[in-house]
Amino acid sequence: MRHYTIPIFIPEIACPNRCKFCNQQKISGTFRQPTRDEVISIIKRNLSTIPEGSEVEIGFFGGNFTGIDLELQREYLELTRKYTDEGRVQGIRLSTRPDYIDHERLQMLKSYPVKTIELGAQSLDEEVLKLSGRGHTVEDVVRASALIREYGFELGLQMMIGLPGDSLEKSLQTAVQIIELGAGCTRIYPTLVIRDTELEESYKKGCMHLYHWRKLFPGRR
Ligand code: SF4
Repeated sequence: MRHYTIPIFIPEIACPNRCKFCNQQKISGTFRQPTRDEVISIIKRNLSTIPEGSEVEIGFFGGNFTGIDLELQREYLELTRKYTDEGRVQGIRLSTRPDYIDHERLQMLKSYPVKTIELGAQSLDEEVLKLSGRGHTVEDVVRASALIREYGFELGLQMMIGLPGDSLEKSLQTAVQIIELGAGCTRIYPTLVIRDTELEESYKKGCMHLYHWRKLFPGRR
């Protein structure tokens, strides 16, 4: 059976800080939180192109879903209910930050057909997290991962390679820990220098970013 994910992008309005490499508006092309009508229109438009009988999920990506106001989270999730009740969509996935996972939020998500929660872990090395301006610790990732699994959600852990302070060893160790934390899925992103980010400033000042890429993959230009 073919699998489709209908992506709905929520920009980083709910993030407590801007990570040094991030400019969600440029990455996703989304500049504000989508309205109710826009969400419905995205779902309908995508469903019209997906063959009947496919496995379909709706994904809230691009920011810090559990950081937005609880009522707004409910509003977004309510919009998907019609499609899950009809059986046209089989589940919801969302991406969020590890320091915005707690019992209250998970209990709320449990009352909707949310199947998978993806955490932007990015690295499980304390120095890399700090140098990247993540604003959370390794312990936050470990705690949130355990809680997500305790509530019966599938856990996704996203990682990035080539962040400031990263090395081949640290990336490999992060991958090993992602498996040990029980992730059912992962995404591995390369670090890119996006315009209007702190990373761009670092890049302009001293090519710090390229330096790390070369360390990760010796011989690549
Ligand atoms: S938590 Fe994610 S969306 Fe928010 S600023 Fe950092 S990378 Fe961007």
